[in-house]
Amino acid sequence: KGPDPDLVAIAERMATVKHKILVLSGKGGVGKSTFSAQLSFALAGMGLQVGLLDIDICGPSIPKMLGLEGQDIHQSSLGWSPIYLESNLGVMSVGFMLPHPDEAVIWRGPRKNGLIKQFLKDVDWGELDYLVVDAPPGTSDEHISIAQYLLATGVDGAVVVTTPQEVALADVRKEISFCRKVGIRVLGVVENMSGLRQPLAGFRFVRPGDGADVTDWAMDYIRERAPELLALEGCAEVFAASRGGALGMCRDMHVPFLGKVPLDPQLCRAAEEGRSCFEDQRCAASAPAIREIVEKL
Ligand code: ADP
Repeated sequence: KGPDPDLVAIAERMATVKHKILVLSGKGGVGKSTFSAQLSFALAGMGLQVGLLDIDICGPSIPKMLGLEGQDIHQSSLGWSPIYLESNLGVMSVGFMLPHPDEAVIWRGPRKNGLIKQFLKDVDWGELDYLVVDAPPGTSDEHISIAQYLLATGVDGAVVVTTPQEVALADVRKEISFCRKVGIRVLGVVENMSGLRQPLAGFRFVRPGDGADVTDWAMDYIRERAPELLALEGCAEVFAASRGGALGMCRDMHVPFLGKVPLDPQLCRAAEEGRSCFEDQRCAASAPAIREIVEKL
C-alpha cells in the first residue's frame, strides 16, 4: 500500500509553511480564539507572513474577531484563497462557509475530519512564516486527525489556553496528556482571564452588610490620608484558583508556563470589533501581557 494521498497533499501544501502553532484549550469560552487572533496580529505586526486557520468547527469566531464577517471564500486553480486582512495576514475559517453567522454547524465526525483535511490540503497560503491553527476545544476525534495530519508535516507545538479555575485546569491536564500521547510538543500554557486589574480611582466601594455605595466617602478618606494609594491598581482574583492555578499545574506536569493575561473589558471590545489589541491604547492591561507571551514562543 502506497502513502496516504491526503497526507502527501497536505505535506506538499505545508512545505511552504515554516512554523505551525496549534492553539488548544480544554474547554470552550476560555479565550482560545481571542489568543489565536491576537497572536496572529502580533506576528504579522513583526513583519512576518502569517496565516490564521480557524477549524473550530462548532464555534468559528475568527471571522468576527478579525472583522471579516460575511466574507466569501474564492477558489482559484491553486485552491481556496485566504481572506487577506493585511498583505501579510491571511485568514481561513469554517465560518466563511456558513450561510449565516448564527447557523450552527452540526456535522458528524467523518465530515468534520473531511473538512479539516480539506482545509489543511486545499488552502493556497503561499509562503508563510507562521500558520496559527485555532483548533476545536477538547480532545475529540477531530484533534486526533488534526494531530495526525500536522505531525506528518511537522508542527512546532501547541499553546494551551485556560482560565485559572480548577474545573478548567482539569481539562487542560487532559489536553496536555493528549498532546503527549500523539507526540505534539506543548510550547506552554497561557492563563487567560487571570484577575481583573483596575486603577483604584475606578473602584466602587460598598459597605458590607447593606451594600450601600460609599465610594465618595472612601475616596475622600483615601485622598486625605493616603493619596499615594490613588496611583495603585487593584487586582481582583475573579476566578478562585486553587492549587496554584495554571502555574502550579505547569509545574506538576512539567510544561512551560507562558504567562497570565488579565480579564480586560477593552480586550473583549477589541475582539468584538475585530481589532488588534496592540494598536489600541486602551488595552493597557492585556496587550503587554500578550506581547510578552508571544515573545516567548
Ligand atoms: P474560546 O475560543 O476559548 O471559546 P473566545 O476567545 O471566543 O473563547 O473568548 C470568549 C469571550 O471572552 C469572547 O467574547 C472574548 O472576547 C472574551 N475574552 C477572552 N479573553 C478575554 C480577556 N482576557 N478579557 C476579557 N474578555 C476576554
